Amino acid sequence: MRDLYVYNTLTRKKEKFVPLTTGQVKMYVCGITPYNHSHMGNARPFVTWDVIKRYLEHLGYAVTHIQNFTDVDDKIIHAANGEQVRWDTIANRYIASYFDVMDALHVRHADIYPRVSEHMPEIIQMIQTLLDKGMAYVVEQDVYYSVEKFVDYGKLSGRTLDDMQAGARIEVDTRKHHPMDFALWKGAKEGEPSWESPWGQGRPGWHIECSAMSCKYLGKTFDFHGGGSDLIFPHHENEIAQSEACTGVSPMVRYWLHNGFITINSEKMSKSLHNFFLVKDVLAYYDPDAVRFFLISNHYRSPLDFTDARLEEMTRSLERLRTSIMNVLELATMPAGGKSAEAAALLTEAQQVAEDFETAMCDDFNTALAAAALFELAKKVNIYREAVVNNGVPVDTSVITEVKRIFKMMTDILGILESAWNGQTSSADASEYAALVEAVLEIRKECREKKQYELADAIRDKLQALGITIEDSPQGARWKK
Ligand SMILES: [Zn+2]
Repeated sequence: MRDLYVYNTLTRKKEKFVPLTTGQVKMYVCGITPYNHSHMGNARPFVTWDVIKRYLEHLGYAVTHIQNFTDVDDKIIHAANGEQVRWDTIANRYIASYFDVMDALHVRHADIYPRVSEHMPEIIQMIQTLLDKGMAYVVEQDVYYSVEKFVDYGKLSGRTLDDMQAGARIEVDTRKHHPMDFALWKGAKEGEPSWESPWGQGRPGWHIECSAMSCKYLGKTFDFHGGGSDLIFPHHENEIAQSEACTGVSPMVRYWLHNGFITINSEKMSKSLHNFFLVKDVLAYYDPDAVRFFLISNHYRSPLDFTDARLEEMTRSLERLRTSIMNVLELATMPAGGKSAEAAALLTEAQQVAEDFETAMCDDFNTALAAAALFELAKKVNIYREAVVNNGVPVDTSVITEVKRIFKMMTDILGILESAWNGQTSSADASEYAALVEAVLEIRKECREKKQYELADAIRDKLQALGITIEDSPQGARWKK
């Protein structure tokens, strides 16, 4: 197996990756708080981790991927009260929306998506252990973690308690032993969901869920923990404090990986700046492959700037790759003609590109350089095809087979252009296809309005036979392929 190097936030250096168990990788990624549709900033870590997972699998590791949903949270409760619906109505709606956009972006699913609301016994147990060990204390119906009791507090963010206090806006709370102490459990308030606990009705603080759920599914120590760099402090710092104090095992995580921010026209994405781009809205304008390609176009730790010009550039770049894939597929169907100097050169170049790709990915998953290798291969393929079509150079089928394997290996790891390998000649195909189905559904709607139900059902059955499922709802018919 190739040596893989990753930048570890904990040690602040690039390290050779050594798994805890040979051939296996256990990774935990902090998921979303489902109180709204996912925005582009949300999407970046999930696409990044999807590529990391695909590459680890390519290297031969069996990967276990856990990603939580923070379905009990102030923002969800606030949204639910605003709409006068239950908190879980909000959570379920936006979890479904998360999967819609992630599926469109070809993000493969995690093995388990644990939810806070389904892990109260584990969370309560962990808090109880921290209390038993003297690491936490009860104030009325709340439980706080005592940061001064954990000697390693600050080791991930590289800050001392004094630095943190100086940098944080902390409300004076005389009930806390130290201003940086954080809530493990919060007593129930009017109009909030709550669960029974040894400290009365209440709900967990934010950080404890990831400690409890990662320990349940991955054990006391695991390989990778990921999330946006905004989670380093306090969230991940607190996870370490909780988990290591509870289990007595250090490190909780061997390699901490954090992705950079997305900026919009060079400003950090935030709601207050009104530059808050929802993934679903971006997907209405751009091909999902182009959006995905954009999200991995910089190294994951670097900032990434969202502009329309950049998305348009990504779209054009993908079309160039798509054309080259069409060329490979075309060459593969041409009659075999034997060896040539051109084919030998192409093979050597393709092998070098594969090597460059692997070198880039093994250097802390450098997708920017890996993509550059992909364009290099596309160029070489196009040159060879020109030679075949214009100069009568024979097609060397065994070389084309190998080039196709290398090309597809790379696009599969980056998770792009699957449709091109399936013969879709342009990204416009997808929208044309959708327009066609919509047109048929429009005719079917007219049939139903005229009470021609037999004809409407026949249309539905014909579409079903083509793999298109229709669901009728009061808002009209929805379809999926
Ligand atoms: Zn988390």
